[in-house]
Amino acid sequence: GKNEGRDRFIVYDDSLHSDKREQLIVGSLRRAMTDFKEFALVYQPKIALATGKVDQAEVLIRWNHPKFGFISPAEFIPLAEKYSLIHRLTEWVLKETVAQMEIWKKEDYFIRQVSVNLSAMHFRSESHNMMIKEIVHHSLKNGSELQLQLEITETSVMENLDRAMTMLGELKQLSLTIALDDFGTGLSSLTHLKHLPIDILKIDKSFIDEVPHDERGTAITEMIIQLAKSLGIEVVAEGVETLEQHLFLKRLGCDYGQGYYYSRPMHVKDLNQQAIEETVLNVG
Ligand code: C2E
Ligand code: CA
Ligand code: CA
Ligand code: CA
Repeated sequence: GKNEGRDRFIVYDDSLHSDKREQLIVGSLRRAMTDFKEFALVYQPKIALATGKVDQAEVLIRWNHPKFGFISPAEFIPLAEKYSLIHRLTEWVLKETVAQMEIWKKEDYFIRQVSVNLSAMHFRSESHNMMIKEIVHHSLKNGSELQLQLEITETSVMENLDRAMTMLGELKQLSLTIALDDFGTGLSSLTHLKHLPIDILKIDKSFIDEVPHDERGTAITEMIIQLAKSLGIEVVAEGVETLEQHLFLKRLGCDYGQGYYYSRPMHVKDLNQQAIEETVLNVG
């Protein structure tokens, strides 16, 4: 019909456009990665649902391109992976994060744990693991009580299970904790999950979006929370946007909530512990 034709046209048009766009972005990315001045890190708090306290955050990268404005990491991270730029990008994120944690440590700041996203490429290269170990080893020498967590996706682990097991084991020895991100979207078997050195599961936003009204997403969310409990690990709901979702997840015994309902990802100077905790305090 009429709509079909229009859709096909849009897809065709987009793919032409996206090839040019890809080259533009990759060129810009290489340039921006010479001094990293166009990049910034933002922090999104995670709320402990039982107490309403916030002392953890996920770090997310932002890129403000001088001509195109903000380009989403959902667009440029996959390109950084494709063009072998991800290693240096991750290195920058980790170093910046560790430096920020050192400042927070001196200030006795309210954030005690920060998680950094690792690309799916991580488990394909031994040098990625070396780089992380070096940065973390260096920062731990100064005896930081602040905890660093790594977020890895289910798919990246399952692609290279044996290697991932070894690498995760090594990282855990440096007292890092590991979160399994976007959980439920990949294909990890429960047997594998039992043997992986994982500290936390993050329920993917696509399921949380359906809580509590859509049966499927709600049932999967409940199942993941139960699964985490039976494995003795903690669980985070990502993408919590409403009071209703917050109350429902809290009632199910989900350990942490993260999402726009509590706070958007923020620059350090805008993080406000009290404001976030009050959002939760007033509703229970
Ligand atoms: P992710 O790790 O699953 O991060 C969660 C994404 O959901 C973030 O998008 C966050 O801003 C967004 N988000 C959080 N709460 C809500 C909510 O309530 N509603 C909605 N609609 N969105 C919410 P962001 O920052 O655009 O990042 C997208 C993806 O890019 C991340 O997904 C992650 O895979 C990747 N990424 C971001 N920063 C980094 C980084 O430093 N390194 C690597 N390797 N990947 C990164
Ligand atoms: Ca993440
Ligand atoms: Ca996620
Ligand atoms: Ca995601």
